[in-house]
Amino acid sequence: MSLAHGRPYLAIPGPSVMPDRVIRAMMRPAPNIYEGDLLDLTGGLVRDLSAVAGTTAPAAIYIANGHGIWEAALANILAPGDRVLVPATGRFGHGWAEVARALGAEVEVLDFGGRAPLDPTRVERDLAADAHHRIRAVLTVHVDTATGIRSELGALREVLDGLGHPALLMADCIASFGCETFQMDRLGVDVTLAASQKGLMTPPGLGFLWVGERAEAARSRLDRVSPYWDWTPRIRPQGFYQHFGGTAPTHHLYALRAALDMIAEEGLAAIWQRHETLARAVWAAAEIWGADGALRVNAPEGCRSHAVTALRLGGGDGERLRRWCADEGGVTLGIGLGMDVPEDHFRIGHMGHVNAHMVLGALGVIEAGLAALRIPHRPGGAMAAARVCAGL
Ligand SMILES: *Cc1c(COP(=O)(O)O)cnc(C)c1O
Repeated sequence: MSLAHGRPYLAIPGPSVMPDRVIRAMMRPAPNIYEGDLLDLTGGLVRDLSAVAGTTAPAAIYIANGHGIWEAALANILAPGDRVLVPATGRFGHGWAEVARALGAEVEVLDFGGRAPLDPTRVERDLAADAHHRIRAVLTVHVDTATGIRSELGALREVLDGLGHPALLMADCIASFGCETFQMDRLGVDVTLAASQKGLMTPPGLGFLWVGERAEAARSRLDRVSPYWDWTPRIRPQGFYQHFGGTAPTHHLYALRAALDMIAEEGLAAIWQRHETLARAVWAAAEIWGADGALRVNAPEGCRSHAVTALRLGGGDGERLRRWCADEGGVTLGIGLGMDVPEDHFRIGHMGHVNAHMVLGALGVIEAGLAALRIPHRPGGAMAAARVCAGL
């Protein structure tokens, strides 16, 4: 007998749960891509995406996942030999650095380890040492999905302005977009990156770049940009096909329309608040469980993501617990990604289409798994999470 039969819950940090409304929006025949509704719909998407990003900058839409968007962002501003600075707080920062290196950039990684946010004063030191302004961009990750660490990016704009350093401030918001407070223009971010399959509740396959004025100017310095990644025709298309560098990702666009409608109906402020409360419920559970035993939230308080939580156990218990929750409870948790011993860790995605019953259900199953596997913990974590959801 297994208790997993029922509606499965994929609680990994992307792809996230797709609302039925998003799934239904895709159930239709292929549309005309030369004229008609799809063209109007795309114009609305671009506008609404920029509203969610908190910017007047236009959105470039790519048929790509997050890795594609990393490359798209860099392909428009880097020539071989250019330098970039990468303050890394987990696997995803290092991953973006590797893409920059593969494109021929000289990459300086400022490694903050996996348990701390980026430190603006250390970034400042490295930028100040770059007297000839060879560093073209600072590549930041708002929420590193491997470690669950969120870094504050506003301080970096002040650092750059204070030094008069022209490097672009780029922000990978792939995990945090639509989940955590972020306003591109207010923060002074030059390029923002996102993808469809996390807070945007849409299948993997669309990537987004918002390109500020400074970034457009940097783009025009390059003699040549690989045509598929060039953002210019995508943000200033002469014809509809140029939005996508070819055939439109038709059904993804309908899905995204439904998701953006849901975001508009709930309101961004309420969405950010919901994510924060549900994240607090997860942390409250972990704090109780960890009072007896090894379980800990990886990120220290004050820099924890509201979209994903990475947790540490020990002795391979992260992987055992994940297995139990999937096989016996119908909840699929995220693997321990990019950690020293991945089997000791697991992650809970709480991004996008998630509510109290989903998160409390997942936490209840985790508590059942801890008990069933005799992993040392203090009981009562799920109840503590319920109290957070009750506003207590
Ligand atoms: C998911 C994610 C990526 C990579 O996205 P893929 O779609 O898996 O290529 C990059 N950065 C962050 C912060 C992410 O969460």
